[in-house]
Amino acid sequence: MYRENAWKNYDEKELVKLESSARHYRSFLDNGKTERECAAYTIEKALEQGYMDLNDVMAQSKRLQPGAKVYVNCMDKAVMLFHMGKNGLEKGMNIVGSHIDSPRIDLKQNPFYEDSGFAYADTHYYGGIKKYQWVARALALHGVVAKKDGTKIQISIGEKDDDPVVGISDLLIHLSRDQMGKKAAEVIGGEDLDIMMCGKPLAGEEKEPVKAALLKILKDQYGIEEEDMVSAEIEAVPAGPAREYGLDRSMILGYGHDDRVCAYASLEAIFSISETPEYTCCCLMADKEEIGSVGATGMRAMYFENAVAELINLTDDCYSDLKLRRALSNSRMLSCDVSAGFDPLYAGAFERKNAAILGNGVCFNKFTGSGGKSGSNDANAEYIGKLRKIMDDNAIAWQTAELGRVDVGGGGTIAYVCALYGMEVIDSGVAVLSMHAPLEVINKADLYEAVKAYAAFMKDAK
Ligand code: MN
Ligand code: MN
Repeated sequence: MYRENAWKNYDEKELVKLESSARHYRSFLDNGKTERECAAYTIEKALEQGYMDLNDVMAQSKRLQPGAKVYVNCMDKAVMLFHMGKNGLEKGMNIVGSHIDSPRIDLKQNPFYEDSGFAYADTHYYGGIKKYQWVARALALHGVVAKKDGTKIQISIGEKDDDPVVGISDLLIHLSRDQMGKKAAEVIGGEDLDIMMCGKPLAGEEKEPVKAALLKILKDQYGIEEEDMVSAEIEAVPAGPAREYGLDRSMILGYGHDDRVCAYASLEAIFSISETPEYTCCCLMADKEEIGSVGATGMRAMYFENAVAELINLTDDCYSDLKLRRALSNSRMLSCDVSAGFDPLYAGAFERKNAAILGNGVCFNKFTGSGGKSGSNDANAEYIGKLRKIMDDNAIAWQTAELGRVDVGGGGTIAYVCALYGMEVIDSGVAVLSMHAPLEVINKADLYEAVKAYAAFMKDAK
Protein backbone atom coordinates (compact mmCIF):
# COMPACT_ATOMS: atom_id res chain seq x y z
CA MET A 1 0.00 0.00 0.00
CA TYR A 2 1.47 3.33 -1.07
CA ARG A 3 1.43 6.12 1.48
CA GLU A 4 2.46 9.58 0.37
CA ASN A 5 4.74 11.82 2.38
CA ALA A 6 2.48 14.36 4.09
CA TRP A 7 4.74 17.33 3.28
CA LYS A 8 3.89 17.00 -0.43
CA ASN A 9 0.30 18.12 0.12
CA TYR A 10 0.61 21.20 2.33
CA ASP A 11 -0.28 24.66 1.06
CA GLU A 12 1.02 27.87 2.62
CA LYS A 13 -1.88 28.09 5.07
CA GLU A 14 -1.32 24.55 6.35
CA LEU A 15 2.43 25.09 6.70
CA VAL A 16 1.74 28.07 8.97
CA LYS A 17 -0.47 25.89 11.20
CA LEU A 18 2.09 23.07 11.14
CA GLU A 19 4.89 25.39 12.29
CA SER A 20 2.65 26.83 14.99
CA SER A 21 1.94 23.32 16.37
CA ALA A 22 5.65 22.51 16.24
CA ARG A 23 6.56 25.71 18.09
CA HIS A 24 3.96 25.19 20.81
CA TYR A 25 5.03 21.56 21.13
CA ARG A 26 8.66 22.55 21.69
CA SER A 27 7.60 24.83 24.48
CA PHE A 28 5.46 21.98 25.95
CA LEU A 29 8.63 19.81 25.94
CA ASP A 30 10.84 22.53 27.43
CA ASN A 31 8.32 23.26 30.17
CA GLY A 32 7.61 19.58 30.85
CA LYS A 33 10.77 17.61 31.44
CA THR A 34 9.08 15.43 34.06
CA GLU A 35 5.58 14.02 34.49
CA ARG A 36 4.96 16.57 37.27
CA GLU A 37 6.04 19.50 35.09
CA CYS A 38 3.91 18.20 32.19
CA ALA A 39 0.89 17.85 34.48
CA ALA A 40 1.34 21.36 35.91
CA TYR A 41 1.80 22.92 32.45
CA THR A 42 -1.27 21.07 31.14
CA ILE A 43 -3.41 22.31 34.04
CA GLU A 44 -2.15 25.87 33.54
CA LYS A 45 -3.19 25.72 29.86
CA ALA A 46 -6.51 24.03 30.74
CA LEU A 47 -7.38 26.85 33.16
CA GLU A 48 -6.71 29.37 30.37
CA GLN A 49 -9.19 27.40 28.23
CA GLY A 50 -11.91 27.57 30.88
CA TYR A 51 -11.54 24.11 32.43
CA MET A 52 -12.65 23.76 36.06
CA ASP A 53 -11.10 21.53 38.73
CA LEU A 54 -13.40 18.55 39.36
CA ASN A 55 -12.89 19.01 43.11
CA ASP A 56 -14.23 22.58 42.90
CA VAL A 57 -17.25 21.45 40.87
CA MET A 58 -17.97 18.79 43.51
CA ALA A 59 -17.46 21.18 46.42
CA GLN A 60 -19.94 23.65 44.90
CA SER A 61 -22.35 20.79 44.01
CA LYS A 62 -22.57 22.25 40.50
CA ARG A 63 -24.40 20.24 37.83
CA LEU A 64 -22.38 19.60 34.69
CA GLN A 65 -24.16 20.58 31.48
CA PRO A 66 -23.16 19.68 27.92
CA GLY A 67 -20.26 21.92 26.94
CA ALA A 68 -18.81 22.01 30.47
CA LYS A 69 -15.05 21.55 30.76
CA VAL A 70 -13.51 19.77 33.73
CA TYR A 71 -10.01 18.63 34.61
CA VAL A 72 -8.81 16.09 37.15
CA ASN A 73 -5.39 16.27 38.77
CA CYS A 74 -4.15 12.88 39.97
CA MET A 75 -1.38 13.44 42.55
CA ASP A 76 0.26 16.10 40.31
CA LYS A 77 1.52 13.31 38.00
CA ALA A 78 -1.44 12.33 35.82
CA VAL A 79 -4.13 14.59 34.35
CA MET A 80 -7.50 14.09 32.67
CA LEU A 81 -9.47 16.71 30.74
CA PHE A 82 -13.15 16.20 29.95
CA HIS A 83 -15.22 18.29 27.53
CA MET A 84 -18.82 17.23 28.22
CA GLY A 85 -20.83 16.17 25.18
CA LYS A 86 -24.48 16.45 24.12
CA ASN A 87 -24.99 12.72 24.67
CA GLY A 88 -25.04 11.35 28.21
CA LEU A 89 -21.93 9.62 29.50
CA GLU A 90 -23.71 6.25 29.27
CA LYS A 91 -23.38 6.52 25.48
CA GLY A 92 -19.62 6.41 25.90
CA MET A 93 -16.78 8.91 25.48
CA ASN A 94 -14.16 9.61 22.84
CA ILE A 95 -10.91 9.18 24.76
CA VAL A 96 -7.41 10.06 23.63
CA GLY A 97 -4.94 8.67 26.18
CA SER A 98 -1.18 9.01 26.38
CA HIS A 99 1.56 9.01 29.00
CA ILE A 100 3.74 11.83 30.30
CA ASP A 101 6.49 9.87 32.08
CA SER A 102 9.70 9.29 30.10
CA PRO A 103 12.82 7.18 30.65
CA ARG A 104 15.31 8.97 32.91
CA ILE A 105 17.65 8.56 35.88
CA ASP A 106 16.18 8.98 39.39
CA LEU A 107 18.19 9.90 42.48
CA LYS A 108 18.11 7.30 45.25
CA GLN A 109 16.64 8.14 48.67
CA ASN A 110 20.11 8.09 50.28
CA PRO A 111 22.07 9.41 47.29
CA PHE A 112 25.08 11.45 48.37
CA TYR A 113 28.65 10.23 48.92
CA GLU A 114 32.19 11.47 48.40
CA ASP A 115 35.05 9.71 46.63
CA SER A 116 38.51 11.01 45.61
CA GLY A 117 37.60 14.68 45.58
CA PHE A 118 34.14 14.36 44.01
CA ALA A 119 30.68 14.43 45.55
CA TYR A 120 28.26 12.07 43.81
CA ALA A 121 24.53 11.33 43.72
CA ASP A 122 23.69 7.63 43.48
CA THR A 123 20.80 6.75 41.15
CA HIS A 124 18.36 4.10 39.97
CA TYR A 125 17.34 4.45 36.33
CA TYR A 126 13.66 4.55 35.33
CA GLY A 127 12.28 2.77 32.26
CA GLY A 128 14.11 0.99 29.46
CA ILE A 129 17.37 2.74 28.63
CA LYS A 130 20.65 1.90 26.90
CA LYS A 131 22.75 2.95 29.87
CA TYR A 132 25.82 3.76 27.77
CA GLN A 133 23.85 6.58 26.08
CA TRP A 134 23.48 8.51 29.33
CA VAL A 135 27.16 9.06 30.19
CA ALA A 136 29.39 11.96 29.09
CA ARG A 137 26.49 14.32 28.44
CA ALA A 138 24.95 17.35 30.16
CA LEU A 139 22.16 16.44 32.57
CA ALA A 140 19.70 18.66 34.40
CA LEU A 141 18.04 17.91 37.74
CA HIS A 142 14.27 18.31 38.04
CA GLY A 143 11.86 17.36 40.78
CA VAL A 144 10.46 18.02 44.20
CA VAL A 145 11.61 17.70 47.78
CA ALA A 146 8.76 17.17 50.25
CA LYS A 147 9.59 18.52 53.71
CA LYS A 148 8.21 17.06 56.92
CA ASP A 149 6.10 20.18 57.48
CA GLY A 150 4.19 19.51 54.26
CA THR A 151 5.92 22.17 52.17
CA LYS A 152 7.41 21.25 48.79
CA ILE A 153 10.55 22.61 47.18
CA GLN A 154 10.63 22.58 43.37
CA ILE A 155 14.00 21.83 41.79
CA SER A 156 15.10 22.73 38.26
CA ILE A 157 18.85 23.02 37.74
CA GLY A 158 20.59 22.97 34.39
CA GLU A 159 18.11 24.48 31.91
CA LYS A 160 18.93 28.20 31.98
CA ASP A 161 21.92 29.36 29.90
CA ASP A 162 23.96 30.27 32.97
CA ASP A 163 22.85 27.29 35.09
CA PRO A 164 25.45 24.65 35.93
CA VAL A 165 24.77 21.14 34.60
CA VAL A 166 25.71 17.75 36.05
CA GLY A 167 26.62 14.46 34.39
CA ILE A 168 27.99 10.94 34.52
CA SER A 169 31.59 10.30 33.49
CA ASP A 170 32.79 7.63 31.02
CA LEU A 171 36.17 5.89 30.89
CA LEU A 172 38.74 7.40 28.53
CA ILE A 173 39.12 5.45 25.25
CA HIS A 174 42.86 5.00 25.94
CA LEU A 175 42.11 2.69 28.87
CA SER A 176 38.95 1.08 27.52
CA ARG A 177 40.30 -2.16 26.04
CA ASP A 178 38.31 -4.24 28.53
CA GLN A 179 35.22 -2.02 28.40
CA MET A 180 35.09 -2.02 24.58
CA GLY A 181 35.07 -5.82 24.57
CA LYS A 182 31.93 -6.00 26.74
CA LYS A 183 28.36 -6.53 25.54
CA ALA A 184 26.52 -3.19 25.15
CA ALA A 185 24.20 -4.06 28.06
CA GLU A 186 27.22 -4.43 30.34
CA VAL A 187 29.39 -1.51 29.21
CA ILE A 188 27.88 0.71 31.91
CA GLY A 189 26.38 -1.03 34.95
CA GLY A 190 23.25 0.23 36.69
CA GLU A 191 25.26 1.11 39.78
CA ASP A 192 27.79 3.02 37.65
CA LEU A 193 25.25 5.72 36.73
CA ASP A 194 26.37 8.00 39.55
CA ILE A 195 26.02 11.70 38.93
CA MET A 196 28.92 14.04 39.64
CA MET A 197 27.54 16.87 41.76
CA CYS A 198 30.55 18.81 43.10
CA GLY A 199 34.34 18.91 42.85
CA LYS A 200 35.54 21.49 45.40
CA PRO A 201 36.05 20.99 49.16
CA LEU A 202 34.33 23.19 51.71
CA ALA A 203 36.92 25.34 53.49
CA GLY A 204 37.62 24.31 57.06
CA GLU A 205 35.85 20.93 56.70
CA GLU A 206 37.99 17.86 57.48
CA LYS A 207 35.58 14.94 56.99
CA GLU A 208 34.11 14.50 53.45
CA PRO A 209 34.65 18.19 52.57
CA VAL A 210 33.27 17.96 49.00
CA LYS A 211 30.06 16.28 50.11
CA ALA A 212 29.87 18.97 52.83
CA ALA A 213 30.15 21.60 50.09
CA LEU A 214 27.28 19.94 48.18
CA LEU A 215 25.10 19.83 51.30
CA LYS A 216 25.87 23.49 52.01
CA ILE A 217 24.74 24.50 48.49
CA LEU A 218 21.52 22.51 48.88
CA LYS A 219 20.91 24.08 52.27
CA ASP A 220 21.82 27.68 51.34
CA GLN A 221 20.19 27.81 47.90
CA TYR A 222 17.20 25.50 48.35
CA GLY A 223 16.69 24.99 52.09
CA ILE A 224 17.19 21.23 51.71
CA GLU A 225 18.78 19.02 54.42
CA GLU A 226 20.42 15.71 53.51
CA GLU A 227 17.66 13.90 55.40
CA ASP A 228 15.03 15.55 53.15
CA MET A 229 16.19 13.45 50.18
CA VAL A 230 14.29 10.54 51.76
CA SER A 231 11.08 12.24 50.62
CA ALA A 232 12.33 13.66 47.33
CA GLU A 233 11.75 12.77 43.69
CA ILE A 234 14.68 14.17 41.72
CA GLU A 235 15.03 13.12 38.08
CA ALA A 236 18.18 13.57 35.99
CA VAL A 237 17.22 14.32 32.38
CA PRO A 238 19.13 15.63 29.34
CA ALA A 239 19.78 19.35 29.82
CA GLY A 240 18.67 21.96 27.32
CA PRO A 241 15.73 22.73 25.04
CA ALA A 242 14.26 20.74 22.16
CA ARG A 243 15.72 21.87 18.81
CA GLU A 244 14.67 21.96 15.19
CA TYR A 245 16.48 19.09 13.48
CA GLY A 246 17.79 18.81 9.93
CA LEU A 247 18.96 21.70 7.73
CA ASP A 248 15.39 21.99 6.44
CA ARG A 249 14.05 22.20 10.03
CA SER A 250 11.57 19.43 9.19
CA MET A 251 12.14 17.48 12.41
CA ILE A 252 12.45 18.06 16.15
CA LEU A 253 15.24 16.67 18.31
CA GLY A 254 14.39 16.51 21.99
CA TYR A 255 14.09 14.60 25.21
CA GLY A 256 10.82 12.81 25.99
CA HIS A 257 8.97 12.67 22.65
CA ASP A 258 7.90 9.27 24.10
CA ASP A 259 5.21 10.08 24.91
CA ARG A 260 4.87 13.82 25.30
CA VAL A 261 4.40 14.23 21.56
CA CYS A 262 1.12 12.30 21.79
CA ALA A 263 0.19 14.05 25.04
CA TYR A 264 0.72 17.43 23.38
CA ALA A 265 -1.21 16.43 20.23
CA SER A 266 -4.18 15.27 22.33
CA LEU A 267 -4.11 18.52 24.33
CA GLU A 268 -4.07 20.74 21.23
CA ALA A 269 -6.83 18.53 19.79
CA ILE A 270 -9.21 18.87 22.75
CA PHE A 271 -8.55 22.62 22.96
CA SER A 272 -9.44 22.92 19.27
CA ILE A 273 -13.01 21.73 19.89
CA SER A 274 -14.93 24.99 19.88
CA GLU A 275 -18.52 23.68 19.89
CA THR A 276 -20.16 21.25 22.31
CA PRO A 277 -19.09 17.81 21.06
CA GLU A 278 -21.60 15.01 20.34
CA TYR A 279 -19.91 12.70 22.84
CA THR A 280 -17.87 13.66 25.87
CA CYS A 281 -14.23 14.05 24.85
CA CYS A 282 -11.45 13.03 27.19
CA CYS A 283 -7.76 13.82 27.02
CA LEU A 284 -6.00 11.48 29.44
CA MET A 285 -2.32 11.76 30.37
CA ALA A 286 -1.12 8.84 32.50
CA ASP A 287 2.06 8.35 34.48
CA LYS A 288 4.23 5.22 35.02
CA GLU A 289 3.68 3.72 31.54
CA GLU A 290 7.42 3.18 31.16
CA ILE A 291 7.48 0.86 34.17
CA GLY A 292 4.30 -1.09 33.43
CA SER A 293 1.45 1.37 34.21
CA VAL A 294 1.68 0.44 37.89
CA GLY A 295 1.28 2.62 41.00
CA ALA A 296 -1.46 5.04 42.02
CA THR A 297 -0.78 7.31 39.03
CA GLY A 298 -0.30 4.52 36.46
CA MET A 299 -3.11 3.53 34.09
CA ARG A 300 -3.82 0.36 36.05
CA ALA A 301 -4.96 2.46 39.03
CA MET A 302 -8.61 3.49 39.46
CA TYR A 303 -8.40 7.26 38.97
CA PHE A 304 -9.89 7.26 35.50
CA GLU A 305 -12.83 5.06 36.50
CA ASN A 306 -13.34 7.12 39.68
CA ALA A 307 -13.35 10.37 37.70
CA VAL A 308 -15.98 9.04 35.28
CA ALA A 309 -18.09 7.90 38.25
CA GLU A 310 -17.94 11.44 39.68
CA LEU A 311 -18.89 12.91 36.30
CA ILE A 312 -21.93 10.64 36.08
CA ASN A 313 -22.89 11.70 39.58
CA LEU A 314 -22.64 15.36 38.54
CA THR A 315 -24.68 14.98 35.35
CA ASP A 316 -27.28 12.39 36.30
CA ASP A 317 -29.78 12.52 39.14
CA CYS A 318 -29.30 8.92 40.07
CA TYR A 319 -25.83 7.45 39.88
CA SER A 320 -25.54 3.70 39.43
CA ASP A 321 -22.74 1.23 38.92
CA LEU A 322 -24.47 0.07 35.75
CA LYS A 323 -24.29 3.58 34.27
CA LEU A 324 -20.58 3.70 35.00
CA ARG A 325 -19.99 0.35 33.35
CA ARG A 326 -21.97 1.45 30.31
CA ALA A 327 -20.06 4.74 30.08
CA LEU A 328 -16.78 2.83 30.04
CA SER A 329 -17.73 -0.10 27.81
CA ASN A 330 -19.47 2.14 25.25
CA SER A 331 -16.39 4.37 24.92
CA ARG A 332 -13.97 4.59 22.03
CA MET A 333 -10.31 5.15 22.65
CA LEU A 334 -7.08 5.99 20.90
CA SER A 335 -4.26 4.73 23.09
CA CYS A 336 -1.67 7.19 21.90
CA ASP A 337 1.97 6.30 22.19
CA VAL A 338 4.95 6.73 19.92
CA SER A 339 5.63 4.24 17.12
CA ALA A 340 9.02 2.94 16.12
CA GLY A 341 9.98 4.92 13.01
CA PHE A 342 11.71 3.04 10.19
CA ASP A 343 15.43 3.76 10.39
CA PRO A 344 17.37 3.00 7.17
CA LEU A 345 20.57 2.61 9.22
CA TYR A 346 18.93 -0.27 11.10
CA ALA A 347 16.68 -1.55 8.33
CA GLY A 348 17.19 -5.14 9.45
CA ALA A 349 15.12 -4.55 12.60
CA PHE A 350 12.02 -3.61 10.58
CA GLU A 351 9.69 -5.14 8.04
CA ARG A 352 9.50 -2.19 5.71
CA LYS A 353 5.99 -2.36 4.32
CA ASN A 354 4.53 -2.53 7.85
CA ALA A 355 6.90 -0.01 9.42
CA ALA A 356 6.07 3.59 10.37
CA ILE A 357 7.78 6.04 8.00
CA LEU A 358 8.65 9.48 9.36
CA GLY A 359 6.65 12.11 7.49
CA ASN A 360 3.90 9.77 6.31
CA GLY A 361 1.43 10.88 8.99
CA VAL A 362 -0.10 9.63 12.22
CA CYS A 363 0.31 5.88 12.89
CA PHE A 364 -2.24 3.24 13.83
CA ASN A 365 -0.87 0.06 15.36
CA LYS A 366 -3.48 -2.72 15.34
CA PHE A 367 -1.33 -4.52 17.87
CA THR A 368 1.92 -4.11 19.79
CA GLY A 369 3.36 -6.76 22.12
CA SER A 370 6.21 -9.15 21.40
CA GLY A 371 6.76 -12.65 20.06
CA GLY A 372 3.32 -13.70 18.79
CA LYS A 373 1.55 -10.46 19.82
CA SER A 374 2.02 -11.45 23.47
CA GLY A 375 0.74 -8.80 25.87
CA SER A 376 -0.85 -6.69 23.15
CA ASN A 377 -4.28 -5.17 22.68
CA ASP A 378 -5.25 -6.40 19.22
CA ALA A 379 -7.81 -3.85 17.99
CA ASN A 380 -11.01 -5.04 16.30
CA ALA A 381 -11.17 -4.87 12.50
CA GLU A 382 -14.66 -3.28 12.69
CA TYR A 383 -13.30 -0.46 14.85
CA ILE A 384 -10.38 0.13 12.47
CA GLY A 385 -12.87 0.28 9.61
CA LYS A 386 -14.71 3.14 11.33
CA LEU A 387 -11.47 4.97 12.07
CA ARG A 388 -10.38 4.69 8.43
CA LYS A 389 -13.53 6.56 7.46
CA ILE A 390 -12.98 9.32 10.05
CA MET A 391 -9.36 9.76 8.94
CA ASP A 392 -10.16 9.83 5.22
CA ASP A 393 -13.23 12.09 5.62
CA ASN A 394 -11.05 14.59 7.47
CA ALA A 395 -8.16 14.34 4.97
CA ILE A 396 -5.68 13.10 7.58
CA ALA A 397 -2.34 11.65 6.44
CA TRP A 398 -2.17 8.32 8.28
CA GLN A 399 -0.37 5.00 8.08
CA THR A 400 -0.42 1.63 9.75
CA ALA A 401 2.59 0.47 11.73
CA GLU A 402 4.05 -2.49 13.54
CA LEU A 403 6.78 -2.50 16.19
CA GLY A 404 9.66 -3.98 14.18
CA ARG A 405 10.18 -7.40 12.60
CA VAL A 406 8.40 -10.36 14.13
CA ASP A 407 10.44 -11.89 16.99
CA VAL A 408 12.98 -9.04 17.10
CA GLY A 409 11.67 -7.44 20.28
CA GLY A 410 8.53 -5.68 21.43
CA GLY A 411 6.82 -3.35 23.84
CA GLY A 412 3.49 -2.33 25.33
CA THR A 413 1.33 0.72 25.98
CA ILE A 414 -1.70 1.62 28.12
CA ALA A 415 -4.09 0.12 25.51
CA TYR A 416 -4.58 -3.26 27.18
CA VAL A 417 -5.51 -1.60 30.49
CA CYS A 418 -8.36 0.45 29.02
CA ALA A 419 -9.48 -2.51 26.93
CA LEU A 420 -10.33 -4.26 30.23
CA TYR A 421 -13.45 -2.06 30.41
CA GLY A 422 -14.65 -3.54 27.13
CA MET A 423 -14.26 -0.33 25.16
CA GLU A 424 -12.89 -0.18 21.62
CA VAL A 425 -9.17 0.67 21.78
CA ILE A 426 -6.39 0.97 19.24
CA ASP A 427 -2.81 2.16 19.52
CA SER A 428 -2.07 5.32 17.60
CA GLY A 429 0.90 7.65 17.65
CA VAL A 430 3.76 9.56 16.14
CA ALA A 431 6.79 7.78 14.65
CA VAL A 432 10.04 8.33 16.56
CA LEU A 433 13.70 7.62 15.76
CA SER A 434 16.14 6.71 18.55
CA MET A 435 13.23 5.92 20.91
CA HIS A 436 14.23 5.99 24.61
CA ALA A 437 17.60 7.60 23.79
CA PRO A 438 18.33 10.85 25.67
CA LEU A 439 17.45 12.76 22.50
CA GLU A 440 14.76 11.36 20.20
CA VAL A 441 13.61 12.56 16.76
CA ILE A 442 10.16 13.18 15.31
CA ASN A 443 8.95 14.76 12.07
CA LYS A 444 6.86 17.95 12.37
CA ALA A 445 4.39 16.68 9.76
CA ASP A 446 3.57 13.62 11.87
CA LEU A 447 2.92 15.83 14.91
CA TYR A 448 0.63 18.07 12.84
CA GLU A 449 -1.28 15.09 11.43
CA ALA A 450 -1.64 13.63 14.94
CA VAL A 451 -3.21 16.88 16.19
CA LYS A 452 -5.68 16.83 13.27
CA ALA A 453 -6.37 13.10 13.68
CA TYR A 454 -7.08 13.32 17.42
CA ALA A 455 -9.37 16.32 16.93
CA ALA A 456 -11.25 14.49 14.16
CA PHE A 457 -11.57 11.40 16.38
CA MET A 458 -12.94 13.41 19.31
CA LYS A 459 -15.46 15.13 17.03
CA ASP A 460 -16.58 12.26 14.83
CA ALA A 461 -16.09 8.89 16.56
CA LYS A 462 -19.34 7.17 17.59
MN1 MN B 1 5.55 5.29 25.28
MN1 MN C 1 8.46 4.17 25.98
